[in-house]
Amino acid sequence: MAAIEEQIQSFREYVRRMIDYKSAIALLGWDARTKLPRKGVEARSQVIGTLSTEYFSMSTSNTMGDYLTTLLVHEQDLDPVLQRTIEVLKKDFDRMSKIQVDRYEKFIVLTNTAQTVWEEAKATNDFAMFEPYLASIVDFQKEFIGYWGYEGHPYNTLLDAFEPDMTVDILDQLFAGLRQDTVALLSEIEKAQPIDDTVLSRHFDVERQREFCQHVLRKIGYDLEAGRLDESGHPFATGIAPGDVRITTRFLADFLSTSIFGVIHESGHAMYEQAIGENLRSTPLHDGASMGIHESQSRFWENIVGRSYAFWQYFYGDLQKMFPEQLADITLDQFHRAINVAKPSLIRTEADELTYNLHIMIRYEIEKGLIDGSMAVHDLPQIWRSKMKEYLGIEPPNDAEGVLQDIHWSTGDFGYFPSYSLGNIYSAQLAHAMQKELPDFDAMIARGEFAPIATWLKQHIHQHGRLLTPKQLIEKATHEPSDAKYLVAYLNDKYRTVYGI
Ligand code: ZN
Repeated sequence: MAAIEEQIQSFREYVRRMIDYKSAIALLGWDARTKLPRKGVEARSQVIGTLSTEYFSMSTSNTMGDYLTTLLVHEQDLDPVLQRTIEVLKKDFDRMSKIQVDRYEKFIVLTNTAQTVWEEAKATNDFAMFEPYLASIVDFQKEFIGYWGYEGHPYNTLLDAFEPDMTVDILDQLFAGLRQDTVALLSEIEKAQPIDDTVLSRHFDVERQREFCQHVLRKIGYDLEAGRLDESGHPFATGIAPGDVRITTRFLADFLSTSIFGVIHESGHAMYEQAIGENLRSTPLHDGASMGIHESQSRFWENIVGRSYAFWQYFYGDLQKMFPEQLADITLDQFHRAINVAKPSLIRTEADELTYNLHIMIRYEIEKGLIDGSMAVHDLPQIWRSKMKEYLGIEPPNDAEGVLQDIHWSTGDFGYFPSYSLGNIYSAQLAHAMQKELPDFDAMIARGEFAPIATWLKQHIHQHGRLLTPKQLIEKATHEPSDAKYLVAYLNDKYRTVYGI
């Protein structure tokens, strides 16, 4: 037994070093996106590359293989944190060791080039330029799936990398009802009286926006002593280490929603990581359970809380005081309606809460089709246009605003997109369960009492980090499997009130 105790100790130390590398990579990445002078970009990429290679080597090394083999023999005697740590690391280890190093390196080189080509193709609206790269990336995905194997649909193993246990069967079912209802609701909204949201595009002093955002952050419970708010072109949240989870936003003087809802969104991600249990420190479990669960936290705060009437009952007075000239003639009702406009649009990242999921479903269906061979890369511009027409009733005038708009395919991140809609689906289901336990949910928010909400989330989701799977988390927190009906009900409830239909 003494020998195994020593093995455990040495394994913990090995994993701690891996996590330290990850932390350094995260900090360098944060700096690269917020502070780094332009001329330092190349050297920085090299440093990040070196550390990433080191992390990757450690996670796929013979030493790691030996640890996993030895410790798995004694699995029954290990504590749950150690058991799950081994399970998570073994999954990565098995996945990576099935791919030959030279094939993986080729794939990394390809995606690095493809990102640059994609940027140019998007800027010049030239799908043909990107097409051969995308075709090669799809071929690689199929090759990797061949090594990994799969059950059911070949796309399942790609989904599993972002959302463990998620399958095409489950997703098809979740999306089917959501799509039908969203399309129906949207067509009713289009017949309703349009909402005037021009107030959001008045001039809002950036310094004051920053002040207001800090006020909101403090109030909803983002710990500014365990994080900070900075600016970047694309807002993000990043967990650097326990006690250091940072967020960024973007301030636009002529559009108020970008900073406020960006900040609330990213703080939802960050409050998740700030509340992960101390017992998971220096393990890979000190992280979100999945991309979908992570997104459920940001969207819960941004949409369900941040765009609610109750939230602005509490905050609108403060916002008006900050911007007396801009908002004097706008009532709370008008403001609440303005931040909840739903309208079909071309660009996913700018889409509203209702139409957003339709953008995701289009990408999901295309990814599935490319992987099972029922669609060809060459036909994507046409497929994109016809799906946009079918789902959203509009067609992009060019590929830059159509099939070329997202970076994900150029980086080889097939299977990622569904996470965004899963986040919406989970968030509504969690809110429903929470409201049963906190029946005066809206009244609390209207009084500016956010602590009970944060406590509920910490208890059911945050503290567990990656100790539990997404499926386990949702079923434990809501006592049922994931179901899109809560999102459908929430969207109907909200938009029927906002549009008076
Ligand atoms: Zn997010």
